[in-house]
Amino acid sequence: MTGDGTKVVHAGRDVATGDPIAPQPVLASAFHLGGADFYGRAGNPAWRELEAAIGSLDGGECVLFASGMAAIATTLRVLTAPGDTVVVPSDGYYLARRHAGEVPGLAVRSRPTAGPWTAADVEGARLVLLETPSNPGLDVCDIAAITALAHAAGALVAVDNTTATPLGQQPLALGADLVVASDTKALAGHSDVVLGHVSTASAELAARLRDERTVGGAVPGPFEAWLAHRGLGTLDLRLARQAANAATVHEALRDHPAVTGLRWPGASSDPAHEIASRQMRRFNGVITFELVSEEAVASMVARSRLIAPATSFGGLHTTADRRAQWGDPVPDGLVRLSCGVEDPADLVADLLTALT
Ligand SMILES: *Cc1c(COP(=O)(O)O)cnc(C)c1O
Repeated sequence: MTGDGTKVVHAGRDVATGDPIAPQPVLASAFHLGGADFYGRAGNPAWRELEAAIGSLDGGECVLFASGMAAIATTLRVLTAPGDTVVVPSDGYYLARRHAGEVPGLAVRSRPTAGPWTAADVEGARLVLLETPSNPGLDVCDIAAITALAHAAGALVAVDNTTATPLGQQPLALGADLVVASDTKALAGHSDVVLGHVSTASAELAARLRDERTVGGAVPGPFEAWLAHRGLGTLDLRLARQAANAATVHEALRDHPAVTGLRWPGASSDPAHEIASRQMRRFNGVITFELVSEEAVASMVARSRLIAPATSFGGLHTTADRRAQWGDPVPDGLVRLSCGVEDPADLVADLLTALT
């Protein structure tokens, strides 16, 4: 048993004498035939190394994709057929919901992450997609309990683990059939790569996903895979600082007169804390809160020196995203604040000044 820092540095690595100590990109599209690789759309060493690493952290077999959406879209394509029903989170990542709605013949049932979940919610479904903590509301659902309901109804369960990361939550150990994730966020963590993956404990399912990736062509670049692998090595360090920053910011905003609806599952006062602390291994740096209006958010961002207005989250830089601008069904002044790895005191001082 090793700690998270050791795990992410060494995950999936099998270094022999004379090998580079860190992962390296192999950019080839064509390989001299007879070895493990033949063509860049089917496979390459940079993918394999990162898949071994993420798979070992997720506790399953990992298949990389060009983006989180490619991972989700390929999962739907492989697991569902016309006439099937898929359950999606009504408060989860908006494009997953939209994509499911655009698959011909697929019936989409949306349910709030916070539930309550009963057998009726998953009845007749082929696939249940959960997202916990949900993005951007940060509600949490009980993966093991919903998986039991879904399995009893003959449905498979996929959990979008983007916000939690493999260090924060282990859906496969909780019984889920698949993990889907955008590694664009905290896993790669440096706001310079778009990537996604699916992990599953089923070798048969992994083979089908891998085959669909080769045929469908939603392949990541080897350079992106390498960048993500480079980022993964510091995931433990980054999450630790991001969570410390989130805790400090949460404390500072708790009684702030301009702020309502403050959410961070890591806080003992948060409505999701009880279930989150049972289910999650550790917390992260994503916080949600509301200001009174769109203008109030714009003014906060304009006055801040450290908080960049940007979508995406989980990177080194603290960013604020007003989610209503992307069509999320949330109030105009709702902000998803992704705490970066700056110093807690600097971040809080900057945020409090920006909110004056
Ligand atoms: C960003 C995100 C996605 C989509 O991932 P991309 O890498 O942007 O395609 C899916 N789910 C969640 C929860 C996300 O935050």
